[in-house]
Amino acid sequence: MAEVETSVPVKKLSVAGEALTTEETRVVRSPWDGVPVAAVPVVGALETGAAIDAAARAMATPLPAHERAEILDRAATATRERREKLARLLAREIGKPLKQALMEVDRCVQTLTFSAIEARTLAGRGIAVDAHPAGVGRRGYTIRVPIGVIAAITPFNFPLNLAAHKVGPAIAAGCGTVLKPAGVAPLAAIELVDLLHEAGLPRELLSVVTGPAGEIGDVLVEDERVRMITFTGSAEVGWELAARAAKKHVSLELGNSTPLIVCADADLDAAAEAAAISGNGFAGQSCISVQRVLVDGRLHDDFTERLLGAIERLKVGNPEEDDTDVGPLIDEDARTRVEEWLDEASESGAERLAGGTVDGGHLRPTVLDRVPADARAWKREIFGPVLALRPFESLEEAIELANGTDYGLQAGIFTRDLATAITASERLKFGGVTVNEAPTFRVDQMPYGGTKESGNTREGPHFTVRDMTEERMVVIKL
Ligand code: NAP
Repeated sequence: MAEVETSVPVKKLSVAGEALTTEETRVVRSPWDGVPVAAVPVVGALETGAAIDAAARAMATPLPAHERAEILDRAATATRERREKLARLLAREIGKPLKQALMEVDRCVQTLTFSAIEARTLAGRGIAVDAHPAGVGRRGYTIRVPIGVIAAITPFNFPLNLAAHKVGPAIAAGCGTVLKPAGVAPLAAIELVDLLHEAGLPRELLSVVTGPAGEIGDVLVEDERVRMITFTGSAEVGWELAARAAKKHVSLELGNSTPLIVCADADLDAAAEAAAISGNGFAGQSCISVQRVLVDGRLHDDFTERLLGAIERLKVGNPEEDDTDVGPLIDEDARTRVEEWLDEASESGAERLAGGTVDGGHLRPTVLDRVPADARAWKREIFGPVLALRPFESLEEAIELANGTDYGLQAGIFTRDLATAITASERLKFGGVTVNEAPTFRVDQMPYGGTKESGNTREGPHFTVRDMTEERMVVIKL
């Protein structure tokens, strides 16, 4: 909701090379205590069009690779220097517990650093055109050219690092970008844009727009100069955008209903700890938070006891305190939705072993047992601090249950048996499989992304920079 609140500092937006303010602003409030953090301008179609225009014009004067790399390196250093300040901003803006917010800032440094490496090494390849008789007397090679202006749309839950995963590779590729961060969490993204400009990036090359998503989205979809939309967010919004942007390259990083299989030979304490932390850290609001725990039926009671113990040790509270593990959900709509899904699961036969109660902005970490496979808490993405348990009798059954979702981002298995680990990694229909590690694991250089409803791409600077460039064939007749 747009509102004018004069007492709140208003951030300037960098749009088309100008530092912009508007009369109408949107106040960003802490999900923890509702206190305003800052306000941001509300811009629309006009400013988005101007941002595209500026990016397209700026791309006509390409920066050499070493300059693009140096800008990214300087931005990485500046991010590291502002580590504490940025982490505190994330804690205020989205209620991310401070220790997890610090990890996000550290990951952002890595993403920018890996993007700088890509700027330095991105190159085409030689093609042996004379391997065909018709190619004799020619030389052939490819070059990689920027795809064009990029529209980058990001979600609320990793507002700094996911913006870096788009603008970092775009700079490495030589593309201009219009960044549209989530309405509830634009501040960290605005900081990142400012930081890149301070690091020497021409201002016209990167703009950030905050305002009504539908209006901004329409311009990004319809403007022909935007050649690629890189979207991270919910499956519902992502696939709808892709359907409307048939002539553009659209890369989608979407949600999941993340399974973790716990086999009879697993290190039970490690598995219980992983499920507790991964399912509840940042209130389960990561696309790869563990949601479904499939546990060998013979260990069910033993595992459940350890899981409940591990959850008991988590600190639920103020995200700005150093030792908090579980902060609030992003807003009341999210709390209401999760509660509805919990009630639905209970009505369809699931037993609630812990949590489920709302306490201020928090939902207490919740464990549901024997959740029916058709309950939304099982098959859809719950995006809250909820673990849904089901026992299994054989590895085949566990894999079938894990695959029984429209999503396919990451999955995990705890086992000491190599053959079980390899079989599972080959049969689980997910973009990534972790063994003896929570499926929340991600380092920023790895190819990360999903299959089925979870998306159609792999993010990570090395992979994204290829998505953001086209391979052009050059043939020279001697
Ligand atoms: P969301 O509601 O889909 O929003 C994502 C972004 O899309 C926001 O910037 C939103 O703007 C924008 N948007 C909404 N409608 C639009 C339209 N018609 N045109 C253009 N843009 C539009 O997702 P969210 O609630 O912020 O984030 C949570 C979701 O992201 C979860 O499903 C999670 O799994 C997923 N996620 C995936 C990954 C991954 O890498 N696979 C990583 C993190 C999160 P407004 O906020 O202004 O509406």
